[in-house]
Amino acid sequence: MEKTAPLLRTLLQFSRCVCFPPRCRHCGAVMSQDSVPLCQLCQSLVVLKPLLQRIDGLPVTSLASYNSPLFSLLKAWKYRKDMLAADYIIRWWQSAAVLHVDRSMVTASYPPVFWGKSLLRGFIPARVLAENIGMPLSIPFCQVMPRASQVALGRQKRLLSGFRGLVYLGKISPTMIIVDDIITTGATLNRYAHVCAARGTEKITALTLLRAEE
Ligand SMILES: [Zn+2]
Repeated sequence: MEKTAPLLRTLLQFSRCVCFPPRCRHCGAVMSQDSVPLCQLCQSLVVLKPLLQRIDGLPVTSLASYNSPLFSLLKAWKYRKDMLAADYIIRWWQSAAVLHVDRSMVTASYPPVFWGKSLLRGFIPARVLAENIGMPLSIPFCQVMPRASQVALGRQKRLLSGFRGLVYLGKISPTMIIVDDIITTGATLNRYAHVCAARGTEKITALTLLRAEE
């Protein structure tokens, strides 16, 4: 029995490799090893391309562009709970984010996510990234109601709707880096920066893994 168990495991692993060979999460190429989520070519495309933008006055640094293989890994992590993809992103993020973190800031935070959504998903990528920049985490708000899309709203309406469904938990930090996985319009980050500033945060910057536009 003790000898058959490893044999059975090897046979199972072999048949799994034949029927479901490991594939690159970005280009789909069949890979010889299943310990990395990207093929060698796609790994070589994962490069740091930091960009600083100002969105309604908020300085936002994003570390890589949308067409990076990191985007495929982020989707695999977010929607398929692919932990190999998550591990790769987190390791890359730790090595890249450390170069762009403003050390004069006190805490890291992330835009509030409706608690029902985070309960359903079991994890929040932005939170995991915020936990991995080597700073204490600050969570001053809880999103108690789901939020409608802000895209169609103008700036003023967007800022006014910023407080909707949010409950202030206290302990606002004087300086804060808001972390998110991806920046598209910047509305989410800006809204969060606005509500934190209204509660007393004096200095806010943002850091994201990816940006949607070049
Ligand atoms: Zn590939």
